[in-house]
Amino acid sequence: MTIYNVGSINLDHVYQLDHFVRPGETMASDSYQCLLGGKGANQSVALAKAGAEVKHVGAIHPSNQAVLDQLQALGVDTSLVAFSDVATGHAIIQLTKQAENSIILYQGANHQLTELQVDEVLSQAQSGDWVLLQNETNLIEYTMRKAQSLGVKVAFNPAPMDATLTQKVLGLVDLLIVNEVEAMDLIGTTDIETTLAEFPKKYPDLAVIMTLGKAGVYYFYGEEVVSVKAFSVDAVDTTGAGDTFIGFCLSALMKGEDMTQAMTRACAASAICVTRLGAASAIPTQHEVTEFLA
Ligand code: ATP
Repeated sequence: MTIYNVGSINLDHVYQLDHFVRPGETMASDSYQCLLGGKGANQSVALAKAGAEVKHVGAIHPSNQAVLDQLQALGVDTSLVAFSDVATGHAIIQLTKQAENSIILYQGANHQLTELQVDEVLSQAQSGDWVLLQNETNLIEYTMRKAQSLGVKVAFNPAPMDATLTQKVLGLVDLLIVNEVEAMDLIGTTDIETTLAEFPKKYPDLAVIMTLGKAGVYYFYGEEVVSVKAFSVDAVDTTGAGDTFIGFCLSALMKGEDMTQAMTRACAASAICVTRLGAASAIPTQHEVTEFLA
């Protein structure tokens, strides 16, 4: 069983500074890191580390082949990533000593997927396979329609949230995975209690996983509700917690675990992730998760 993750691949250029660059100012930074990023790439890494067979579908500029080498070394099949004339998606991140950040995001090649690429990729898919999408690439609705027509299941993590697009495609989604803020946006409230009460009423036919940070996670499907508590850990950086959760949860579901088992394993993986700095580099291995749960 394969999961085709149609998602972004970014280069995160991180500069540490005393303060954000002001209009007209030129400032030197003596700390620079270039990290693999993008929700798509992070979720592919989490899927691979969780033991799933994951094929990443996306696009980069050919000058960044090293990014694909990095993904492959982490267990992700990148043979379906296309090359584009447009620059690889990237983020310019200013980090201050007060841990504030300011980010310029360029979606670049992530928005150069073509219908031909999607058709070719999905023609390989077989019944029982999954397609996973976030909201950082183009052709979301097209890809979902194609997957549905081929009997391939669709998981959607609508991040960053575009409520209009998300409402439009919900009928094509087999499993929606949202965080607290995304869930509230879909209900049109800023109150989480209202969201928890209203979500199953508003979307009775939709299977939804709602992650609530250190408050844990809920699964709703019609009358069925499953909740799992987050593990208590000393969090140092929650970046990538959601991506880690999604990778481990989907991997476990594809291996036939039930929702409680899958969400428990995913909560353990993301609990380990938040105890470490970084995103892709903070995602634990299956072995670490098994040890954590022992
Ligand atoms: P991010 O955008 O930071 O990657 P997210 O907002 O998409 O994350 P969250 O709901 O914050 O996703 O977290 C996903 C899961 O990670 C939670 O359901 C929980 O199991 C785990 N988690 C997140 N924060 C903590 C924490 N402080 N302590 C323990 N587990 C946590």
